[in-house]
Amino acid sequence: MNTERKIPHVFLLLIPFLFFSNSRILSAEQKPLTVAESSGFTATSRYKDVIEFIGELQKQSSLIRVESLCISAEGRGVPLLVVGKPVPSSPLDLKYSNRAVIYIQANIHAGEVEGKEASLMLIRDILLGNNVPFLDNLVILVAPIFNPDGNEKISPENRRSQNGPREGVGVRYNGQNLDLNRDAMKLESPEVRGLVQNVLNRWDPVLLVDCHTTDGSYHEEPVTYVWGLNPNGDPSIIEYMRSKMMPLIARNLREKYKVLSIPYGNFIDPGNPEKGWRPAGPQPRFITNYVGLRNRLSILDENYTHADFKTRVWGAYYFLRSILEYCDKHKDKILQLVKSADQKTIQRGMCPSKKDSFAVEYDLKPLKDKITISGYKKTDQKKIYKLPYFCDYVPRKSVRFPYGYLIPLSVPEIENKLLQHGITVEKLIMPATLRVESFYLKEVKASERLFQGHHLNSVKGKYVVEKKDFPPGTLFISTAQPLANVAAYLLEPESDDGLIAWNFFDRYLFLEWRRKPENCPVYKLLEPAKLVKETVK
Ligand SMILES: [Zn+2]
Repeated sequence: MNTERKIPHVFLLLIPFLFFSNSRILSAEQKPLTVAESSGFTATSRYKDVIEFIGELQKQSSLIRVESLCISAEGRGVPLLVVGKPVPSSPLDLKYSNRAVIYIQANIHAGEVEGKEASLMLIRDILLGNNVPFLDNLVILVAPIFNPDGNEKISPENRRSQNGPREGVGVRYNGQNLDLNRDAMKLESPEVRGLVQNVLNRWDPVLLVDCHTTDGSYHEEPVTYVWGLNPNGDPSIIEYMRSKMMPLIARNLREKYKVLSIPYGNFIDPGNPEKGWRPAGPQPRFITNYVGLRNRLSILDENYTHADFKTRVWGAYYFLRSILEYCDKHKDKILQLVKSADQKTIQRGMCPSKKDSFAVEYDLKPLKDKITISGYKKTDQKKIYKLPYFCDYVPRKSVRFPYGYLIPLSVPEIENKLLQHGITVEKLIMPATLRVESFYLKEVKASERLFQGHHLNSVKGKYVVEKKDFPPGTLFISTAQPLANVAAYLLEPESDDGLIAWNFFDRYLFLEWRRKPENCPVYKLLEPAKLVKETVK
């Protein structure tokens, strides 16, 4: 009997719809398409589109797993893709495998959307292409939609000076009105806490790539980039990135993929471009600078806002691809670089010398070589600029680097903040009398303007070496640990991005009715000492 005849007409009509129910995201070869691709680069993916796309990848490949990076402020699950051959079930699987973990993050500012499309396209092409590149040497983690709450506020009214996509983009802020790329020290957002705890502490990627779109100066190159800039990070990593890794990635991008790139920045003086080119500041509240403090490599990818959307997506795609090609080829060197940075950091903290210092103020200097930018003299008149690139932050004022920090307070917020960063925190269980460096506060000034919901403090005072009694319960933070630079940045009294600046100690800086500030409640133990203590869990 002919079975076809038994199928009611209504079902025959439905068959194409059932078969192509995912037609918005499936290409002719049934590979998923991003919204950027399927819309002809007039629109960007919504949260639901990203989740569907990832589901389709999972249907077609066994080399991908999805973890939860966090639940966003408005309650959306932020997916973290784990891609490997085999795909590790946890970081423990990598203990003896010698693969390097690379982390790509996109859409942190949800108006800056091409990284979201490009990272999804790249992972699809790696997983569903012919030869599955990179995965012999690399495990690739991707958070394509790091700020979903900002993404879901898509409107053509957002970022109107940006050249597409026409149908609109999301907003810069997360669901708490916070700029996530200013949150890496205070960790007030679930997204950045998730990044630190579930990506950086858990997987320990050797490289983080954070995808953005520029906001300013006019030039031709669609891709711009810079590395971790804070000079308290390991200098060998900064030197490696700026002298070797990034120039080679840029060359590969140009020669193999015909995409031009320049170091990220803006004209110092737009009216007088010859003065030079400069990126944003060195503070670790910026995620790529923070990762540098953790002795890991990082790349800030800023795609050119005036390039059309399609050019930006493909620019970001080939940039990410070039980064992976570089890491694939130089994996052993990168692994060795971060291992030795950690070893040096621990070694220094075991017995810091008088020469070991920590920068709290910076001067900005140009690199030795000038950079070339294809800019514009007037809107339609091209001009090649050879400019000094001001991206070398050097210490202007430094303080002694200690053996450890002591905090004789019982403040869960402070203890938790240190633990969230992955810093080892200990507690004295016997009293101790120690020669420490105290910081006598003379002035505490809160910024007049609110920034990220804070009046940031800046302090003045003087250091005095004295004997002090510390009761049981005092927190002790040793600097003989890989995250010592993060700990010092959070705890140094004069730090411009630490816990005193971000108001965590406010209640302890002034006592009621007193006109003068108290001593800073963070004390520096300069010399090694034997302390009876236990680790805080
Ligand atoms: Zn941005």
